[in-house]
Amino acid sequence: MLRRRRAQAAAGQANVGGLLVTHAPDVRYLSGFTGSNGALAMAGARAVLFTDGRYTTQAKAEAKGLRVTISPKPATVAATEWLAEQGIKNCGFDSAQTTVAALTRMRSALPGNIRRSFFTAADGLIARLREVKDADEIARMRRAAKVGCSLFEVALRVIAPGIPEMEVAAQLELAARRAGADGMSFETIVASGKRSSLPHGRATAAKLPRQGFCTLDFGVVLAGYCSDMTRTVHVGKATPQQRDVYHLVLDAQVAAVAAVKPGATCGEVDEAARGVLRRARFGRKSLDKFFTHSTGHGVGLEIHEGPRVASKQTQVLEPGMVITIEPGVYIPEAFGIRIEDEVLVTPRGGDVLTAASSKTWIEL
Ligand code: ZN
Ligand code: ZN
Repeated sequence: MLRRRRAQAAAGQANVGGLLVTHAPDVRYLSGFTGSNGALAMAGARAVLFTDGRYTTQAKAEAKGLRVTISPKPATVAATEWLAEQGIKNCGFDSAQTTVAALTRMRSALPGNIRRSFFTAADGLIARLREVKDADEIARMRRAAKVGCSLFEVALRVIAPGIPEMEVAAQLELAARRAGADGMSFETIVASGKRSSLPHGRATAAKLPRQGFCTLDFGVVLAGYCSDMTRTVHVGKATPQQRDVYHLVLDAQVAAVAAVKPGATCGEVDEAARGVLRRARFGRKSLDKFFTHSTGHGVGLEIHEGPRVASKQTQVLEPGMVITIEPGVYIPEAFGIRIEDEVLVTPRGGDVLTAASSKTWIEL
């Protein structure tokens, strides 16, 4: 399998003889196994998936072309013992995804003479491979994004003054299930009126106001892959200032989407959005003072993964990466606006996966 060969090459570059992969999305990426308890051990070209008796049938069906070992021991312990038996002297693991307790347990499975030197932190090794999506992943992400866009249409039919935010979220999530989603990729955000000034306002029992913004940030998991998009609509008639700020956020978002291309750094893409807001005023301040988070993030098997699209990030975009572009402006105690698309980096530039949902001003 190509992904495992690339993991093996990355291990070689990191100077580790073996790899112990335990973070579930990494295990899935390299083996196909979707269970919650799995450890993938790699020693050169040999690889074994360790799991427990609950997953006997599932693991064999999903992890095609891979040896599967069912063990009553914790999967990480069984995997560590196997790695030592293969003559591995130093083994990479992801310390950012491993608890101290798990590392202690893994070490205790080793003979005393190699216990101290065996494990080497090789953080983000698989996460970095996952940043560039292959054709199958891109197809899945396109489908997930398409379902996401169809949910926005559902929300537009539900949104009206007096409707609880919760009800908007519920209708959206019901539609997601009906469209075949495995679930939502994160807790649906429906933030209306003053609450729209909270960048992460989860849906509450609050009712949509007669006049005010409503920010919807949501995504599905479809065939394992996440979607992520945000649209902000206005309920009732907006003030000219609210309209102006919306269009400035939209200008910033469009500028950052246009900056997406292979060779551009994540910092340059962030600056494309931030610069538009910096040059705009809100009262006596520059509008970027109210843009309090980074421009975007990678998406894939996880809702937040690399690369980080943030200020001064030097990482370079490559074809196959999928990132979000989501500038926002949050005026405390007043209102907030965010617009988010998912963009695939192509050899020529960026392809917006969530283009089916319009970003033009909507007053409901
Ligand atoms: Zn989002
Ligand atoms: Zn996002």
